Amino acid sequence: MPETIERIKCLIIGSGPAGYTAAIYAARADLKPIMYTGMEPGGQLTTTTEVDNFPGYPDGVDGPTMMVQLQQQAERFGTQVRIGMVTAVELSDAQGGIHKVTVDQSKHLEAETIIIATGATAKYLGLPSEQRLRGGGVSACAVCDGFFYKGQDVAIVGGGDTAAEEATYLANICNKVTMLVRKGEMRASKAMQHRVSATKNLEVLYHTEVDEVLGDQVVEGLRMINNETGEKKEIAITGFFVAIGHKPNTEIFKGQIDMDDTGYIITKGKSTKTNKPGVFASGDVQDKEYRQAVTAAGTGCMAALDAERYLAAVESKEEVEA
Ligand code: NDP
Repeated sequence: MPETIERIKCLIIGSGPAGYTAAIYAARADLKPIMYTGMEPGGQLTTTTEVDNFPGYPDGVDGPTMMVQLQQQAERFGTQVRIGMVTAVELSDAQGGIHKVTVDQSKHLEAETIIIATGATAKYLGLPSEQRLRGGGVSACAVCDGFFYKGQDVAIVGGGDTAAEEATYLANICNKVTMLVRKGEMRASKAMQHRVSATKNLEVLYHTEVDEVLGDQVVEGLRMINNETGEKKEIAITGFFVAIGHKPNTEIFKGQIDMDDTGYIITKGKSTKTNKPGVFASGDVQDKEYRQAVTAAGTGCMAALDAERYLAAVESKEEVEA
């Protein structure tokens, strides 16, 4: 007997705020969404502690709790949440075409619409001391975690727009910010560089790299190395922020979905539409600028509405043609 392939009206790939918000809207619109969670159910927020900037939580909420609540809300309207990793896709170019999807390298599915919400992963330096102290003072999100270091001394590594923006953000909260830039200049835009140099309690150290993050349980300091002179120096800090870029999780879509040169999915105008009919992208996988849970949730909502309108247009055309 040949295998019967499951046909899904709305497949959501990824389980961060974008995916769950898409699921809530898609389920309420009766698109019977099925979500595959990926390797890190709940996404980046499950690695955060307190989330204080998502509207509607006056006392804050911890990241994992918020993701469980989002899942419950999506399931309340009938979303099926499945643990699994989409490992391959074969996307149709035709309006109303069926997209083929493989899960965990073995299960085959067909989808009328796909909402990509696979997110992005923060890059880390890869030092063992940095990895050991993640959650103990090492963070890749100043906007999420900066508040915990109010009035304290912190350091940030990176020389791009994110590092410059986060360094000035931290300088508003913290006593002193030391910014480590590995080259003799920053990659950040001139406007951002001006903002950095105009910030009094922000010191930029060029040609400087991290040798070691110091501390047993929590961050206590940083040993830096000047890559021109080889000179090493230690400073006392309680928070260490990594802002050396993000990697969008788009490997499986390469060659099929239009992306920019850093791998972020390109969406059309203000919509979540990709170059493939019926395939939509939401959240950090298509946004390298804002990257907030609330902005991801907003685009998740948009993707579900775009999917609903797309299906309605396909259906009405079929009826006309029939
Ligand atoms: P970028 O890739 O632009 O910059 C990464 C920075 O990290 C570079 O300075 C790079 O150094 C440095 N870096 C990389 N690896 C290491 C390492 N191992 N050790 C030390 N330093 C390292 O990433 P961003 O996240 O800053 O920005 C991504 C994109 O988003 C950009 O296009 C940016 O313009 C955009 N953006 C725009 C914003 C805005 O307009 N408001 C805000 C934030 C981002 P090097 O230069 O030596 O390679």
